[in-house]
Amino acid sequence: MANLLILGAGYGGIAAAKALEKAGQPFTLINKHEYHYFTTLLHEPAGGRNKFEEYSVPLRDVLRQPTSEIVKARVTELKPQGNTIVTDRGELAYDYLVIALGNAPEYFGIPGMQEHALVLRSLDTARQLHEHIEKTFAAWQEDHDDTRLCIVVGGAGLTGIELCGELADWMPELAAQYALPLEKIQLINLEAAPTILPMLEEDLRAEALRVLESKGVQLRTGTAIVKVNRNQVELKTRETIDAQTIIWTGGVRANPLIEQAGFEVDPKGRAKVNEFCQSVDFANVFVIGDSAWFTGADGKPLPPTGQAAEQMGDAVAQNITAQLQSYPMRPFRYNNLGTLASLGAEVGVGSVKGVRTKGVSAALMKEGSKAKYLWHLGGLRMISQKRGQFKRKG
Ligand SMILES: Cc1cc2nc3c(=O)[nH]c(=O)nc-3n(C[C@H](O)[C@H](O)[C@H](O)COP(=O)(O)OP(=O)(O)OC[C@H]3O[C@@H](n4cnc5c(N)ncnc54)[C@H](O)[C@@H]3O)c2cc1C
Repeated sequence: MANLLILGAGYGGIAAAKALEKAGQPFTLINKHEYHYFTTLLHEPAGGRNKFEEYSVPLRDVLRQPTSEIVKARVTELKPQGNTIVTDRGELAYDYLVIALGNAPEYFGIPGMQEHALVLRSLDTARQLHEHIEKTFAAWQEDHDDTRLCIVVGGAGLTGIELCGELADWMPELAAQYALPLEKIQLINLEAAPTILPMLEEDLRAEALRVLESKGVQLRTGTAIVKVNRNQVELKTRETIDAQTIIWTGGVRANPLIEQAGFEVDPKGRAKVNEFCQSVDFANVFVIGDSAWFTGADGKPLPPTGQAAEQMGDAVAQNITAQLQSYPMRPFRYNNLGTLASLGAEVGVGSVKGVRTKGVSAALMKEGSKAKYLWHLGGLRMISQKRGQFKRKG
């Protein structure tokens, strides 16, 4: 029996594991937590929309077949030359490996960013961000400080914009809770590129801008951060902004374990894969999601998205099963379903399968996509288990 390891239980790893379960193919899934969390929704609990517990699900509730083994361990090294991986619980050998270890923040060498900025990339970092903001408000109340409370979000891609929408909704609540005049709070988004949400069409971007500005967010495009100090960002314009909270959402690169293991990588540290999502360096290693450098039909690398990770997970499960049963593998074809950006709990903007949407209908579509994902994870059982979800916490 072939020994198959999947590393990482995010969107890609879970999709691969579920498809392998369906195919009756045994595997071991290694993940640093015993749960799967909903990364694409992390801005919601970070911004106080719902409780954190509602954004994760135990791995055993998703993978219920006795053929699947789940190991809680942190992968510390990949050794593809020897067909082994090292974890904090020991070394493991494999015949086939699926690497789905996600991403790490890309700081672009901006001095001080890594040291002083918070990030939003896991349940733990979302919680840290939420608690940090609450602390700054509590400290203000204690000291009756006369300064403004400022939150700076660097990056106006999907993560930065969705987070701004959520934080904007949360600010009036926090202001009331800590008896702070709302006009003392500043929420600023800084983006070096000329536009926000570059994946959306011009008029949808304009709509996102309009909605966020109406919620009090100051959006500044073409504004590069060049240095971060404790509680301060320095801009290319030589301006400085004092902020008690600085959050970086400006970019991601692959999990650093990949580059360290000697895979051929792109400038973002992603392992080069062929049309089967198979490493070009090691035929028994498949790399998916944010860690993979896959060239799409347009000749460009696929962007790091949850939908690409899920589709790749399905594809590699089928390709590994094909190899084990001596069938030919099938090339992976990415099907871009579009993008939906929430701008707070009640409105959004985006385009799905060519249908453009904005306002409440976009927010409703986003809710629908959450339910669809829960259905994929565990059918009606999972939907009813999480049915308290998406109601604002009381
Ligand atoms: C706020 C936010 C909103 C987003 N919105 C969207 C959206 O609307 N649509 C969209 O398509 N994409 C969206 N994305 C991007 C999407 O979340 C990622 O592209 C997707 O999660 C990548 O999937 P993955 O399987 O490659 O990695 P992940 O989902 O990040 O999974 C990686 C897994 O590996 C585990 N892991 C990491 N290192 C180790 C280690 N050393 N040992 C053991 N386990 C480890 C992690 O705990 C995690 O479980 C959003 C991202 C964020 C942060």
